[in-house]
Amino acid sequence: MKRLVLASNNPGKLREFGQMLAPLGFEIIPQAELSVPEAEEPHPTFVENALAKARHAARFTGLPALADDSGICAAALGGAPGVFSARYAGEPKSDARNNAKLIAELAGKSDRRAHYVAVLVFLRHAHDPQPIICEGEWHGEIIETPKGTGGFGYDPHFLIPELGLTAAELPAEEKNRRSHRGKALRLLLERLRHDY
Ligand code: IMP
Repeated sequence: MKRLVLASNNPGKLREFGQMLAPLGFEIIPQAELSVPEAEEPHPTFVENALAKARHAARFTGLPALADDSGICAAALGGAPGVFSARYAGEPKSDARNNAKLIAELAGKSDRRAHYVAVLVFLRHAHDPQPIICEGEWHGEIIETPKGTGGFGYDPHFLIPELGLTAAELPAEEKNRRSHRGKALRLLLERLRHDY
């Protein structure tokens, strides 16, 4: 097995990435297991933050590294909350307060379009001059009244117009098929299959 450090300690991501990358011969190790301290995420773009996290983990461990960064961007808000999605309403992070803030910011605005973004960065080593970068998007609309109990974060307010359902109303597999993260992960698998 090829060992790969995941620049995240989120058990959901570990499971998802682990399952998808195992058939390619990768063993995914969460960075905490290798005593990697949390990296800073100071940048204004998803790709910069993902790259910073991956490079930090690769530098610390000497292993190839995978990092992701994701969030939601509302068209009427110039792409906000963007990289601040997890902490849009401040500390401590709270989905309920983030959602309330998003709805308040969009009050009275007719343009309800929003999209989720996920960026994955794979570094062969800390000095890799050509990281593999894969991006997925998922487009929808923000609705005022939440619907559904699945998913997390902004999902109960994220309507997929063609289905008439929110992301929180989709079974997990259906969400993975459609989601920003699912799309980015499938692109990454293709690239790793060919290039690595
Ligand atoms: P992170 O990439 O794990 O830091 O996630 C960033 C934040 O974006 C999350 O805390 C959520 O608020 C939001 N987010 C990212 N992906 C999703 C999703 O699939 N559903 C709902 N919220 C999401």
